[in-house]
Amino acid sequence: MRPEVLFPLFKTQSTLKGVGPKLEPHLERLTGTHVVDLLWHLPTGSVDRTFQPKISEAVSGIVATITVRIGQHMVPSNRRRPYRIMCHDDTGTLVLTFFHAHGDYLQRTLPEGELRVVSGLIEHYNDEIQMSHPDHMVKVEDIDDILRLEPLYPLTHGVSQKVLGKVIRASLDETKDLAEWLEPNYLKEQKWPAWHKALLAAHNPIEAKDLDPASPAHVRLAYDELLANQLALGLVRRGMRRAKGIPTKGDGKLRQKVIDALPFTLTKSQETSLSEIIADMASDLRMLRLLQGDVGSGKTIVALLAALVAVEAGGQAVMMAPTEILARQHLKTIEPLCQAAGLNCAILTGRDKGKARAGILEGLKSGGIHLIVGTHALFQSEVEFKDLKMAVVDEQHKFGVHQRLELSRKGQAVDVLVMTATPIPRTLMLTAYGDMDVSRLLDKPAGRQPIDTRVLPSTKLASVAERLTTKLDAGARVYWVCPLIEESEKLDLAAAEDRARQLKTMFGEDNVGLVHGRLKAKEKDQVMEDFKAGHISVLVATTVIEVGVDVPEATIMVIEHSERFGLAQLHQLRGRIGRGTGASTCLLVYQMPLGEVAGKRLKIMRETEDGFVIAEEDLKLRGAGELLGTRQSGLPEFRIADLEIHKELLAVATDDAKMILSNDPELQTERGKALRTLLYLFERDAAIKFLRSG
Ligand code: ADP
Ligand code: MG
Repeated sequence: MRPEVLFPLFKTQSTLKGVGPKLEPHLERLTGTHVVDLLWHLPTGSVDRTFQPKISEAVSGIVATITVRIGQHMVPSNRRRPYRIMCHDDTGTLVLTFFHAHGDYLQRTLPEGELRVVSGLIEHYNDEIQMSHPDHMVKVEDIDDILRLEPLYPLTHGVSQKVLGKVIRASLDETKDLAEWLEPNYLKEQKWPAWHKALLAAHNPIEAKDLDPASPAHVRLAYDELLANQLALGLVRRGMRRAKGIPTKGDGKLRQKVIDALPFTLTKSQETSLSEIIADMASDLRMLRLLQGDVGSGKTIVALLAALVAVEAGGQAVMMAPTEILARQHLKTIEPLCQAAGLNCAILTGRDKGKARAGILEGLKSGGIHLIVGTHALFQSEVEFKDLKMAVVDEQHKFGVHQRLELSRKGQAVDVLVMTATPIPRTLMLTAYGDMDVSRLLDKPAGRQPIDTRVLPSTKLASVAERLTTKLDAGARVYWVCPLIEESEKLDLAAAEDRARQLKTMFGEDNVGLVHGRLKAKEKDQVMEDFKAGHISVLVATTVIEVGVDVPEATIMVIEHSERFGLAQLHQLRGRIGRGTGASTCLLVYQMPLGEVAGKRLKIMRETEDGFVIAEEDLKLRGAGELLGTRQSGLPEFRIADLEIHKELLAVATDDAKMILSNDPELQTERGKALRTLLYLFERDAAIKFLRSG
């Protein structure tokens, strides 16, 4: 249960004063749904409002806070001219100007004859001293509210600085001091403020340097966030480990049958990874291992062989894919191999219904099905196994920790193998997986040829299409990728459809297919199937082909608007070709003008195929903060911590978390209890389930 002190922070933002139905969606887009999300939205700049000159001392181009007596309101004769208000002190006249003003409002706020404090940018204009649209207009007794370094927050459409500042202040009013979760000596040594003080300080800078992410208040908050993350990972991992595994060993007979049926031999790193996995499964500790390998490195077969160990040991295995297409593809790959080994395999996705579904559920329960491939549908509670020993989770970034856990609960001490093609740099690895064991596929299957990657402007598209004719006549299969992003989805979709139509007139109506995210799963699969089987040779696709699709015969990829894709995405896409023994070509077509960063990305793509190099370059181009911020990467999102700046903190937090779990494994001490609050505060509370008294 969430501690009561945090209740106000986990209410929706609409419970705050000033947040109505109009503002809420904008705020949500900017920060999140709960009050607590506002706390983590830290200012990145400030306006100094402490300069309090007399009118005659006000300097053009500088923000001033001035106490004035309101004089005459000069209502404009037409809407294009500004509404002007004359204000005075004993040194001169200040003219407040307002465009598109609401006269009533101004007369109420600035009644003639009254004293008011106004704050805003001073301009000298036509011998007048002016302030247009003051940022603040308050009564004299409220001057202290504005006489300060006013924090400036990152904004979004529909939210003004003023409104956001107010809402954030309201959210801060909901906070209280919390019991300290940091080790007292460490805290003292670092000279960090307590959490509540740190939070208030981060939002109320006194000097510009207080806004620095390296300032004590920021660092403290960043450390809290990292500690919460590392502690949660430690708990989850221990929870999975602690349920002492059941050693799973096989006699290798099934594996041998499958290996004999393969048209290729395993690469060295496939062999090595496999033996690491087998050893892990045989140990009496539960397996939680990451199989990392670049696109096309051959992870699927390794996973299948590992799954067979579970079957050899008399159990069952599941293979989870993030999408329907991928699940079907996996089934296609493993079905013939399973047949060769005399095994029963099946698929379960959201689409399987009625009798067929019931039959599969029955097979899983009775143990008649040895191996099941599927999507999220496998998480449903009706899905029961006779003896699930092993779970493979593909492209894990699409699954949350929660789901991984649910899956492992479907058996006793299920061994978990997570596959990912995301080449995660060391530091980031630690934040996403803690100290999870890792096997890596470093070499590519033999016989692969390097991909010839070329970069060209869209003006050359016509000649590209022309040259393709010859290639297609020679039997080539081509991916033609069109970008599709949410913001311009309709336009993008129309462009992809246009392109498909155009290519159809060039290459034949029946020779070109189109897949995009809007198609029904069944239609998508059909097109993919047609492409795989060679019934069509050109596949126009939006980015739905990104993850894991495998058509070794495809040797050409055209990516339109390649300047709109990120490096990781381009790499994933390109990984769809160069999977067979034929020479492959990737054409990165860009629209002029090409921006500097986009140009660099394309250059990197032309120069290397190495996923790790590309990930490193990506990190350089985008910065760790942004890389971490991308949801697609599956790495945790940090709200405050920035690994470029707070890198050393991560190592400390990791050690700290380890120490905590060894000294106070159930988080029972005073500090332990405070740490539970910390986990809730940063929404890492999924991990709390792993405590005996959650
Ligand atoms: P990924 O790691 O991207 O998931 P896949 O498992 O889909 O890669 O494998 C990509 C392709 O490489 C598949 O067609 C697969 O059959 C093939 N493959 C896997 N291992 C080898 C190997 N050792 N030698 C040759 N081809 C292989
Ligand atoms: Mg794959």
